Amino acid sequence: DTLAAATGWGADSRSGSAPTGPIPMDIEGIFGSNTFGMSEMRARLPKQVYKALCRTIEGGETLDPSIADAVALAMKEWALEKGASHFTHWFQPLTGSTAEKHDSFITPNAGGGAVAEFSGKELIQGEPDASSFPSGGLRATFEARGYTAWDPTSPAFIAETPAGCYLSIPTAFLSWTGDALDTKIPLLRSMTVLAEQATRALKLFGADATGVTATCGPEQEFFLIDQEFFYRRPDLVTTGRSLFGAKPPRGQELEDHYFGSIPDRVLAFMIEVERELYRLGVPVKTRHNEVAPGQFEMAPIYENANLAADHQQLMMITLRKVARNFGMACLLHEKPFAGVNGSGKHLNWSLGTESANLLEPGDTPHANMQFLFFCTAVLRAVDRHQDLLRAAVAHAGNDHRLGANEAPPAIISVFLGDQLADVFNQLESAGEATDSKQGGLLGLGSPVLPRLPQHAGDRNRTSPFAFTGNKFEFRALGSSQSVSFPATVLNTIMAESLDEMNTALEAELARGTEFETALRSLISEEIRRVKRIVFNGDGYNQEWHDEAARRGLLNLPTTLDALELLPQDKNKALFEKYGVLSHRELESRHEVALDQYFKTVNIEGETTADIASTMILPAAVRYLNDLLAAAERAEDIGLKARGLRGTLDKVNGLVDELTDALDALVAQNAELGGEDVHSKAYHVRDNVVPAMLRVRGAADGLEKIVPDDYWPLPTYRDMLFVK
Ligand code: ADP
Ligand code: MG
Repeated sequence: DTLAAATGWGADSRSGSAPTGPIPMDIEGIFGSNTFGMSEMRARLPKQVYKALCRTIEGGETLDPSIADAVALAMKEWALEKGASHFTHWFQPLTGSTAEKHDSFITPNAGGGAVAEFSGKELIQGEPDASSFPSGGLRATFEARGYTAWDPTSPAFIAETPAGCYLSIPTAFLSWTGDALDTKIPLLRSMTVLAEQATRALKLFGADATGVTATCGPEQEFFLIDQEFFYRRPDLVTTGRSLFGAKPPRGQELEDHYFGSIPDRVLAFMIEVERELYRLGVPVKTRHNEVAPGQFEMAPIYENANLAADHQQLMMITLRKVARNFGMACLLHEKPFAGVNGSGKHLNWSLGTESANLLEPGDTPHANMQFLFFCTAVLRAVDRHQDLLRAAVAHAGNDHRLGANEAPPAIISVFLGDQLADVFNQLESAGEATDSKQGGLLGLGSPVLPRLPQHAGDRNRTSPFAFTGNKFEFRALGSSQSVSFPATVLNTIMAESLDEMNTALEAELARGTEFETALRSLISEEIRRVKRIVFNGDGYNQEWHDEAARRGLLNLPTTLDALELLPQDKNKALFEKYGVLSHRELESRHEVALDQYFKTVNIEGETTADIASTMILPAAVRYLNDLLAAAERAEDIGLKARGLRGTLDKVNGLVDELTDALDALVAQNAELGGEDVHSKAYHVRDNVVPAMLRVRGAADGLEKIVPDDYWPLPTYRDMLFVK
């Protein structure tokens, strides 16, 4: 009895009747009800087993394998009570999405019946055939073996369909040789080193240092269109974005969509998404209309980075799945429609102990030396590893968005805001900071309205990496991507930065310098060194590009520019030193990213050629034929047919343009561009992408004059205004 069924917004009903009354949402009752979380474990596990598990989950201690059988038994009983028949190890290969292979609990017994069984061994380790997952050369195809390993820190959950449900166990995925083939292993490793270095720093400050963890809160943007249109657009079905489509007379110009009232069908969809995610223990919090028509956003409350990454995958899966129940398709691509805003994913990131967020400045940041220390470490990390942050968001879809005046530029810089920028200026020039600008109160000129506290600085929407009060917001991520690698990079570069600052501080203390003095001079010195990374102005401006070049900041406009720098020595040394990725593992990620880029653009090139020659050209020819017949008939009876002839010329000209462009594209598609994945990737970027754009130019020109009833594809006008 989903909301979709109850409200009549079924798969093919666009005009479903309004619900008779809302279905109650018992948030407290359902939250986490489909997860085998701490309370379920406490209730079902022997005390000793539960305690041992807590030491791993909460204390980060090595998992005691002898408890596996007891956990498996309890987990199976819970899953059977929920109605599950199967289990799966759920993992995140380098494709950026998730993978699963289901096994039944069923074990036949002697009497011809069957019992449900699930052992500790099955819980801890799986052996999927790894040969069909990208490995970037880490594994030759004949070495097919791979393993999945239970991640006890992310709760197992029940995945539901109307026909039945199954137990899903979050796992890590590695090759037979022990190399990480997934995104979870490096993320967990990076969380460990970050915790080590942050704890070391906190000890210097004499502060409480228990359980430091990286925290992430990813905001998810997406488009919704009617499912009927989706299935009539082969480009959306195969590539996730429209490869054709003339700009509609009305796009986002009226600025009436952002934060507008959410259309009923969309709101019903969001509520159902929330209901499912609550059951899975995903703390979704915010929902609203985004800038482009048909574009929306949902965001959860932040969690530890590993959980946030798993939950972010569940969110994408749930959005896609639930949309269908409401007769819609959810598009997670970065740029489904040209000419209106694309979709991003803001990764809010911080680090904290059980009781305190380490990036919380308080009201007087100038006096909060511990905050300034951690904040300086971030600036330093971002300055040194601009290339890594840029590479972590580099993929084909994001190339349509970054730097396009709707998303952050491809230049990485940090926005600090007025208050912090001023504090750091004081530190830089005077070696100490003595005050913090304050916000005051805003009077609204009417006695009935409250006076509002004003923030000490304004927000900035154009920065790729912005300090937003008590966390940094990495805004360059694409909407379809996993947050794991960007979070891994942030954790690792921060660990390195803290490590080096800790070492410098410890050396100074060993020399007998007083703590405050050593700290202040370290921070001032570092700020002088890295201040070029701070930019508080408008990142969309051409002047910033010039200024950034003068400052020597990297500007890496496309995916391939950024990927080029990923395996450079600096990065190999960094990841190796902190045990996050070996050289081989880093190189494999580079290979996989190039391969994915090549394949994505290659598929787009083929799909463009397909649609242009089998759908668009025939439509244009039909129209041409009818125009010609009409003109000839008109002339037969002595009419001049000047308008008909003019239209005929125009259509004919565009058909010539289209066929020329198509020939060129087909030729480029047929070129392999070389043997290795590197040159193939450059071939598609430099030759296929421009050839596709030419085809699209001619096709979009035709769309504007070929009559609607000849045109084979739903138009932007049809698709963008979902209600
Ligand atoms: P905005 O981007 O409009 O400022 P919010 O303040 O609601 O929006 O925050 C956006 C996201 O940042 C949410 O997912 C929120 O949970 C997350 N967030 C808040 N504090 C932290 C933190 N300490 N670490 C990581 N993410 C955080
Ligand atoms: Mg935000």
